[in-house]
Amino acid sequence: MRDCVFCQILAGEVEASIVYRDERVTAFMDIQPLTPGHLLVIPNQHASSLKSVEPDTMSRMAVIGQMLGLALLESSLAPQAFNLFLANGELAGQTVFHSHLHVIPRYPDDGFGVRFPPGFGRIAERGELDEQAEVVRAALPPEHV
Ligand code: 5GP
Ligand code: ZN
Repeated sequence: MRDCVFCQILAGEVEASIVYRDERVTAFMDIQPLTPGHLLVIPNQHASSLKSVEPDTMSRMAVIGQMLGLALLESSLAPQAFNLFLANGELAGQTVFHSHLHVIPRYPDDGFGVRFPPGFGRIAERGELDEQAEVVRAALPPEHV
């Protein structure tokens, strides 16, 4: 994709600090780190959303995200924890439309966090959860039913 900055990074046309690369995925430092050591894991093949990421590539993104998060914990950056985060779609916060998994190391008082919606904390009715489970089950692809 000519106008995709992550494809340009993969092609070596845009500078990036690459940490890991294999035949399916590449990981590099986020240019605007939320915390020191913030990494992105991306598929080598352009995919604007998870809809077009092959399952085996998705698996590799997850495994490499796990490996990098654990490596960060062992590194001299010395975070105490990490978050794996993926925004799929604009409303979810996606700004670069080449799918990517964030690996975000966490430090005490790093100022990063997840904001909960107003009213959060209510334990949902079982009937409501069962209904929603049925709605989701009805949308599963045939091979997973
Ligand atoms: P999103 O909001 O789509 O989940 O995350 C996009 C991420 O890509 C952001 O954290 C942003 O800082 C990072 N990013 C955007 N452009 C570049 C770039 O040119 N190089 C690198 N390394 N990261 C980028
Ligand atoms: Zn791309």
